[in-house]
Amino acid sequence: MNIEQSKIPQATAKRLPLYYRFLKNLHSSGKQRVSSAELSDAVKVDSATIRRDFSYFGALGKKGYGYNVNYLLSFFRKTLDQDETTNVCLIGVGNLGTAFLHYNFTKNNNTVISLAFDIDKEKIGKEIGGVPVYNLDDLEEILPDDVTVAILTVPAPAAQAITDRLIVKGIKGILNFTPARLNVPDQIRIHHIDLAVELQSLVYFLKHYPIDEKS
Ligand code: ATP
Repeated sequence: MNIEQSKIPQATAKRLPLYYRFLKNLHSSGKQRVSSAELSDAVKVDSATIRRDFSYFGALGKKGYGYNVNYLLSFFRKTLDQDETTNVCLIGVGNLGTAFLHYNFTKNNNTVISLAFDIDKEKIGKEIGGVPVYNLDDLEEILPDDVTVAILTVPAPAAQAITDRLIVKGIKGILNFTPARLNVPDQIRIHHIDLAVELQSLVYFLKHYPIDEKS
C-alpha cells in the first residue's frame, strides 16, 4: 500500500469501487467532467461526502466545472490495482456459489474467481462458468500462493473449519456469505454478507421506517 492510500479513511475506501464503476461508465459515454451533484445523484452518496472523499484523492473540483473524469479514473485504477488481476477462490459450489461462478466479476473490475472447491463428487472435476472445481481435500496442495482472497458459500457448520485451513494456507481476506460468525486472527479481514439478514432488515425498515413521499 502506498502512502497516498494509507491516508484514505476506511469508509471512503469502501466507496471507491462504487465511484470507479460509475466513472468508467461516464468515461465510455465520452464525458470529460462530472459535478459532485451529478455523482451524488448516480451513486446515492450525498455530495458533501463525495467532496470530502475526493479531497483525499487530491481531486479538487472546481466550481462550475466539476471533476476531471480522466484524472479520477486513472487515480482509481491505480488505487484499486485495476492494472493487475486479483485471483480469488470460492469454497462451496452450491446454488449461491454456482451463481457467483457464472457471474464472475470481470465486467466491472479485475477481480476474478479462478478456482473453486467443494466436497461433492458430482461437482469435483467439473468446470462451472469456466472455473475448475477441485476437491476440498486437496486445498493445501492446489491453492496457489498468490490467491489471498476467498469467498465462502458453504453451509454454516462447515465455515469455521474451512476458514482455519484457508488462513494457514495464507488467505488474508474472506467474503463470508454463510451466517456463521467466524473467529479469525486480527490480521485477517472478514467481510460478512448475510443475504437473509439483509433482506429481513430491508422488509423491517420498509414497514417501520417508511420513506415519506415528497408531494
Ligand atoms: P445445492 O442445492 O447445490 O446443495 P445449496 O447452496 O443449497 O446448493 P448447501 O448445503 O448450502 O447447498 O451447500 C453449498 C455447497 O457447499 C454445496 O455444493 C456443498 O456440496 C458444499 N459443501 C457442503 N459441505 C461442505 C464442506 N464441508 N466443505 C466444502 N463444501 C461443502
